[in-house]
Amino acid sequence: MINTTLMAERYQSARDLFLSNADKAGWEAHSLLHPLKGPQGIDLYTDVIHTGNPDSENLLMISSGTHGIEGYLGSEIQSRLLAENVIAPDRSDRHAVMVHAVNPYGFAWHRRVNEDNIDLNRNFIDFDAPLPENEGYEAFRALLNPAEWDEGYEEKLKAEAALAIERMGLGALFKSVSGGQYEHPSCIQYGGQGPCWSRRMMEDVWTQVMANKRRATQIDLHTGLGSPGQGILMTYGKDEQTRIKRARAMWQDIFVSPPAETDDTLTTGVLGPHLEEMFADRDILAVVLEYGTKEPVDVLHAIAADNWLHHHGDVDSERGARIKQLMLDAFYLSDTALREKSYQRARNVVVAAENAG
Ligand SMILES: [Zn+2]
Repeated sequence: MINTTLMAERYQSARDLFLSNADKAGWEAHSLLHPLKGPQGIDLYTDVIHTGNPDSENLLMISSGTHGIEGYLGSEIQSRLLAENVIAPDRSDRHAVMVHAVNPYGFAWHRRVNEDNIDLNRNFIDFDAPLPENEGYEAFRALLNPAEWDEGYEEKLKAEAALAIERMGLGALFKSVSGGQYEHPSCIQYGGQGPCWSRRMMEDVWTQVMANKRRATQIDLHTGLGSPGQGILMTYGKDEQTRIKRARAMWQDIFVSPPAETDDTLTTGVLGPHLEEMFADRDILAVVLEYGTKEPVDVLHAIAADNWLHHHGDVDSERGARIKQLMLDAFYLSDTALREKSYQRARNVVVAAENAG
């Protein structure tokens, strides 16, 4: 069971290992203090480290914890890449940056969302334009955001999801739920009403490191989608685009790019495409390296339970600890062999990016 003491320890030990490995490998670190506290009152940080030549035109960037708790696997991958010196510190033709815990609040509290209940990958939108609408969400709002939660909820969710898949198909269900929403701050998949702390922080980091860059590869580490331990690289864009060609050449079949026209709501507010838009005059390839963990309905169950917990329940209770265990099961790989497999995949991805220049 994951109580608040364990959560605090897990976050701190992940962070300590990352910083100590960064130091041993000769990377320079900058720690950005988050305004809020973690479990047991601990301080929360996003840690940004860099190596190589800041004046070169090429950037390689690897980030973890955009979806909070997903950062536990991401953090392990980052720390081991550092321990094995996969990214050579002395290269003069490339600047390398790692961001640890893009969303440190969600990371430490074992949530996927941030301090504002925001799914960060729905927050990178233009808030001056009309907010995106997702009409499909409403049909599932009550089911996914129960006011009462108990251990029987999982069966109810599974049964209703199966019925919905039968009725409308998996793709339509996925779009309705995962498409996000901007109207209900206490419901799941909320995108926010303005740029959140983590978004503004990332924009600052990008503005600084991108100043003199012509070309960048950004890899954001995620979990919760796909088959267990399997990592795939995803981005949005069409095959004829230079950056997609670059991705295919670099990563071959590890790279899976959904055609941009299939599903607009799924691309709304994602971190990587925002980086590409911010520097549209440069050659930027931003991808997600996504690792499968559990079945989609188990992942959804954990997200809904955790959302109930933070709005209606008590994190510091036995049920709270049980729900946090569900979250960990849904977003971390407890199996050592699967973690090894996921690291080797990440290593291959990074080595290919390094060899491509
Ligand atoms: Zn994610």
